[in-house]
Amino acid sequence: MPDSTMPSIQMTAGEPGALEVREAPVPAIKPDEVLIKIRAAAVCGSDLHLYQWDESIRGKLNRASDNFKHGVIAGHEFCGHVVEIGSEVGTIMDDPSVKLEVGDFVSAESHVVCGKCYQCLHGEKHVCVNDKIIGFDRDGAFAGYIALPSSCVWKNDPDLPYEIAAIQEPLGNAMHAAAHFPLKDQRVVIFGLGPIGMFSAVIALMHGAKHVTAVEVSETRVKLAKEIGVHDVILGKIARSDEERAAERERVQKLVREAAGEDGPDVALEMSGHPDAITNAIKSVRRGGKVIAFGLTKGSAYTFDDYSTDVIFKGITVQGIIGRRIYDTWYKVRDLVRIPEARDKLRKVITEVLPYTEFRGGMERMLKGETGKIVLNFE
Ligand SMILES: [Zn+2]
Ligand SMILES: [Zn+2]
Repeated sequence: MPDSTMPSIQMTAGEPGALEVREAPVPAIKPDEVLIKIRAAAVCGSDLHLYQWDESIRGKLNRASDNFKHGVIAGHEFCGHVVEIGSEVGTIMDDPSVKLEVGDFVSAESHVVCGKCYQCLHGEKHVCVNDKIIGFDRDGAFAGYIALPSSCVWKNDPDLPYEIAAIQEPLGNAMHAAAHFPLKDQRVVIFGLGPIGMFSAVIALMHGAKHVTAVEVSETRVKLAKEIGVHDVILGKIARSDEERAAERERVQKLVREAAGEDGPDVALEMSGHPDAITNAIKSVRRGGKVIAFGLTKGSAYTFDDYSTDVIFKGITVQGIIGRRIYDTWYKVRDLVRIPEARDKLRKVITEVLPYTEFRGGMERMLKGETGKIVLNFE
């Protein structure tokens, strides 16, 4: 063991902005765990919820910190090197032929699953009823080291660039969403080009979609989408009144159908969670089309405009997506990041690589929508 303490970015109190760099003990591993020295970690939209102390994450953090008797280390998207392996570590990546060794370059699935519930036992670990998310339910990866069960550990190709290795977890979200339905020769529309929407665009293009349209309200992101190769990008307008919103919905639906041609796109990826975008996704797909529901709404309610006409009579499929399939999605991500063209496109989505001490400025810029993905360097 090289160090006894390490720097870490911790949520130290239940209030907005209480993320701070603190020295912490290097965690001790249990027999089934692995100690990983962090090389780099990426900032997620959910880390911003933490930073802002949003309602949605309070329960988890209050439990994990025992009501802030101690801090909780944030971060769940990362890569690093194995420095210690517990005595009872077994199969990783669901592949008994993969052997884990000290020095291996690894990333990790952020959902620590129980392996015992109905879902876990039936090939649906991504919806485990007892899952614990690192950086929320237990200490995370914005730190010098992390201890994790070996069942979460993913062994990277040793030559995978570290900034790409650090974003495989969110890229897996995008892969799970975008590749749920095969996209080869399909006409696709993506609503919302935050990092996951942007990754989905890369995946749709690399998976051979015939035509990709995206709808986004930020001009910076519209420009980036064009650089990545999205065929048609529609700049959405932020409407204020109900009349304006109705007109904007009609305008966007018409443009999306025109861009895709014929009866509208085959597949809509709803990555924004905005109610108007959800409606646009449902209304603009062709009859028999498919809608991927990924973006979380601000509140929990969404009202269908015309459920019978738009869902039943139209015969569409609406598929909710959470997390990554463990490990099917990770293998798909591995295939993607091995392609040089995909790496080039993904690098465009990573707009900043910062020393971890500069996380606050990065998060503030991300909140304003000025950035793509941000990677924090821990080396
Ligand atoms: Zn995340
Ligand atoms: Zn389970």
